[in-house]
Amino acid sequence: MADPEVNLSTTYDALIIGSGAAGGMAAHVLTSHGLKVLLLEAGKKLPIEQELRSMEWPYDNKYRGHLPPDQHSLTFNEYTIRRPPYGPGSEKSKHLRSYVGNSDYTKNICVDERENPYTGTNYAWVRARCLGGKTNIWGRLALRLSDYDFKAKDRDGYGENWPISYSDIAPYYDKVDQYLGIMGVKENLPHLPDSIFQRPQRLNCAEVMLKQSLQKMGRTLTQYRAGVTSEGLAHNKYRSRCYGRGACSRKGGCDIHAAFDSPTGLIYPAMDTGNLTLRTNSVAREITVDPNTGKASGVHFVDSQTMKDYHVRGKVVVVAASTLESARLLLLSKSHTYPNGIGNSSEHVGHNFCEHIMGPGVAGRAKDLVGKPSTLDDGRPGGFYLTRFRNLSEKHPNFIRGYGFEGGSGCEMFPSGTQVPGFGQGFKEEVRKNYGAYIGMGAFGEVLARYENYVDLDPVVKDKWGVPALRFHYKFGENEHKMAADMKETAQEMFEAAGFAILHVSDRVLTEGWSIHEMGTARMGNDAKTSVLNQFEQSHDVKNLFVVDGSAFVNASCQNPTWTIMALCWRSCDYLADEMKKGNL
Ligand SMILES: Cc1cc2nc3c(=O)[nH]c(=O)nc-3n(C[C@H](O)[C@H](O)[C@H](O)COP(=O)(O)OP(=O)(O)OC[C@H]3O[C@@H](n4cnc5c(N)ncnc54)[C@H](O)[C@@H]3O)c2cc1C
Ligand code: SF4
Repeated sequence: MADPEVNLSTTYDALIIGSGAAGGMAAHVLTSHGLKVLLLEAGKKLPIEQELRSMEWPYDNKYRGHLPPDQHSLTFNEYTIRRPPYGPGSEKSKHLRSYVGNSDYTKNICVDERENPYTGTNYAWVRARCLGGKTNIWGRLALRLSDYDFKAKDRDGYGENWPISYSDIAPYYDKVDQYLGIMGVKENLPHLPDSIFQRPQRLNCAEVMLKQSLQKMGRTLTQYRAGVTSEGLAHNKYRSRCYGRGACSRKGGCDIHAAFDSPTGLIYPAMDTGNLTLRTNSVAREITVDPNTGKASGVHFVDSQTMKDYHVRGKVVVVAASTLESARLLLLSKSHTYPNGIGNSSEHVGHNFCEHIMGPGVAGRAKDLVGKPSTLDDGRPGGFYLTRFRNLSEKHPNFIRGYGFEGGSGCEMFPSGTQVPGFGQGFKEEVRKNYGAYIGMGAFGEVLARYENYVDLDPVVKDKWGVPALRFHYKFGENEHKMAADMKETAQEMFEAAGFAILHVSDRVLTEGWSIHEMGTARMGNDAKTSVLNQFEQSHDVKNLFVVDGSAFVNASCQNPTWTIMALCWRSCDYLADEMKKGNL
């Protein structure tokens, strides 16, 4: 794989900021159109196989997989009750991590919270500043959106419709499926369109019991639609097919790259075209503007190691730093021409910020499976997905939009249910007896996009590189809390209907941000007064500026966003390349 030298005296066809799902996809599409591209990534290129070590047994790890004692990862209470610098004792730790950076495997992938501060309302902001960003450790649930989401306003009158329909994006979902690989089963649901699936994983006994019971209620439980290749990808030499080694949930990532990650899925193949130059350790701090044309002219960035400042020129700037970081960068890019930040004449940058509410769920025991021999269920990239069933054909009296559940059951390396009382032989027998009978699920619901939920720049606090920090003004509203109450009730109801013994029902709503599904800070729309981007994720104000990550979403839907981020980005980059050829940029 060639790694061409960065040439700061040249003008690249395109500058891409960020190397996660969005930036990786932009690099793949633009380089395959023959554009000369420079990709700036704030973080390091980590030796990711040495981080994830999915074949390492827990007893071979000095800390049994936990964080080394000199590091601390934030807990629910620290996010929710305590304020930065958080709980007593945390000031003594050398590194402070988000709640996801809580293992020896993810600690270097997640940022040091002290180097990357943020302020304002409670928010569990999970960031991965390294090549590939969060795709190194994402949960891999790869779902499509439908016109129930794109045209949600037509159904319930709330918010705005997207400027596209499912038919516009469907061919691009197909391309993403085929280029990156996805496992799953066709269900023919109008609200959760099928992908072009590779061989699915199997459901286990308790999951099948739940599925059958749900069918009687007209609800659908399907195999986890994992952004994982089960059959391999002949066109990609950097990825392997899934060997079902079962370490996904234990290590948070896949070191043979069966699960999609942006470096092996997109960036290394893009580098093989000879058209991509990658510069890691490059923190973009401002998009510069040509005062004569009003167009973006380049990017100022700081080398994260030397702290030296550079400027690089590009004919087009493609922002893909992730929803919140992209908004931050647009707001940071103030100039005489754009005093509120580039692309922000609508004053909508940072606003309409939305995500998924999480927390309510249920744990139970399939009584018929107690005492049955253990089965080998450790070896799947995920369990099941229970699709949205609210506000489809009928209208719920208390809230609009919907939610789905992610869940699983079966015998995994670390058995569930070890909290039972007792010790010694009796305790072990009790755990073994119930081993394959535990089943649990938790909900993800749509948080409505609201103008008053927003982020801006903190006037005082800066990060390690001197860049103003992001400040949150964001809270769940009434619709979300009513939806969460319903999640809890339906979870319990569905487990009872399946004949499971209920062990625990949770109505605790997790801190804002917990879902790590951020969207909406530079939404698309047809009206330049109420949106930031057009349907091709192109700035209404600055025609050679594109923002191709979750920022562009108009609403959050309840489906996980990454597959849609990549399908939209592919569509936008095809358009960009076409416009460039026509001389329109
Ligand atoms: C534990 C976990 C589980 C998840 N599970 C799922 C799931 O099951 N399904 C799903 O759809 N999604 C899931 N997600 C979310 C998914 O990872 C994101 O939607 C996806 O990675 C977003 O892609 P992105 O390119 O916008 O951002 P990222 O992947 O975060 O990449 C952004 C990149 O930009 C870089 N960057 C940021 N600021 C700058 C700057 N100023 N200059 C230069 N570079 C910069 C960052 O370092 C990073 O590498 C999960 C995430 C996590 C962490
Ligand atoms: S189960 Fe498959 S995708 Fe998950 S870590 Fe193992 S090989 Fe990778």
